[in-house]
Amino acid sequence: MNHNFFVLFIMTQVRAVERVLRAYPTVEGAGVRLHRAFGSYEVPQFDPFLMLDDFRAPRPEDYLAGFPTHPHRGIETVTYMLKGSVKHKDSMGNAGSINAGDVQWMTAGSGIIHSEMPKPVKGQMGGFQLWVNLPRSHKMMDPRYQEITHNQIPAVSPIKGTTIRVICGTVQAVKGPVRDIVADPEYFDVSLDPDAVFSHPVKEGYTAFAYVIGGEGTFDQNEGYPVNNRDLVLFGNGSSIWARSSGRGFRFLFFSGKPIHEPVAWRGPIVMNTSDELRQAFLEYEEGTFIKKKA
Ligand code: FE
Repeated sequence: MNHNFFVLFIMTQVRAVERVLRAYPTVEGAGVRLHRAFGSYEVPQFDPFLMLDDFRAPRPEDYLAGFPTHPHRGIETVTYMLKGSVKHKDSMGNAGSINAGDVQWMTAGSGIIHSEMPKPVKGQMGGFQLWVNLPRSHKMMDPRYQEITHNQIPAVSPIKGTTIRVICGTVQAVKGPVRDIVADPEYFDVSLDPDAVFSHPVKEGYTAFAYVIGGEGTFDQNEGYPVNNRDLVLFGNGSSIWARSSGRGFRFLFFSGKPIHEPVAWRGPIVMNTSDELRQAFLEYEEGTFIKKKA
């Protein structure tokens, strides 16, 4: 094969659909019924991402118990609300609400102890929580928040019939408000009108996946896999992704990030590299020395 042709071919490789998973019901916190798109069973396929929970739920009894006081270390938790709100409160003295359309990107780093309590607004509540891993070099970094309100998230329409809320990453030179994240992630909320096409460049070697939250469509140019609400699509390697909506329109969350390639030692809300580091973290939590950085 002509060498230049080969290079061009690689450079424009659309990522294939590698796996389609279905979010599964589970119970978390003090008895919250939610759907998990992926979690500890899927390590390391989604590296640097650890988990994606979908807590859209129609009945208050499914979520009102919430997530009372618990610790995090070694990860970032990212909450994106579509409806209702989550009230949060933490060991650094922060307290507030994450409301519809808002994002809270919390870097737990060395440790945060917090509570997260979903509340309905006009009878509705729903959102997503993504966990992003931190590499060994950053697991014990100082905790920090990026609190983004809905009006700070730009909506871009690169092609007619497409609307992309850019939470983190760049679309058509428009940069999302979440910055300086170790995993160099992208996080978009993509809405396609009926029969619209979306494509987006993704860095080679980065993990990329989409989680469908409405309508129907496909990420496979050969039309092999129509996917719909609560389907999770993991892409193979390549330099771009492609999507097309069906006649009903299509909405999905899109994520990409740089894999960490380190051992994962995970217990509940704490994710470290070794089981010794996990033991240490839980011991510190019991002894009251978990928090390294106060306000
Ligand atoms: Fe939490």
